[in-house]
Amino acid sequence: VRVEDKLFQNRYLVDAGRPHITVTPHSVPSPRLLSLTRICPAGCYAQTDSGQVEITTDGCVECGTCRVVAEPTGEITWNYPRGGFGVLFKFG
Ligand code: SF4
Repeated sequence: VRVEDKLFQNRYLVDAGRPHITVTPHSVPSPRLLSLTRICPAGCYAQTDSGQVEITTDGCVECGTCRVVAEPTGEITWNYPRGGFGVLFKFG
């Protein structure tokens, strides 16, 4: 089974207007920040046409990878979603 197929089984409740992860505004992304577009397993990070890295938290599986990589440098902020929001895992 492909990872993408497994991820598709998860459900996600969006906390509209209150993303639990934010990217710190920047003009040019650092290599570290840019790496998030490749390492997030849910594909939440993307590079805009103007070069900045942005996040869409819908679908985030709260794996913490981006937190480990870019929160210590202040390039992102990371919090768990409020209770009841975020990913709902379905196993099997
Ligand atoms: Fe992607 Fe994991 Fe970060 Fe969520 S916590 S945005 S799934 S790397």
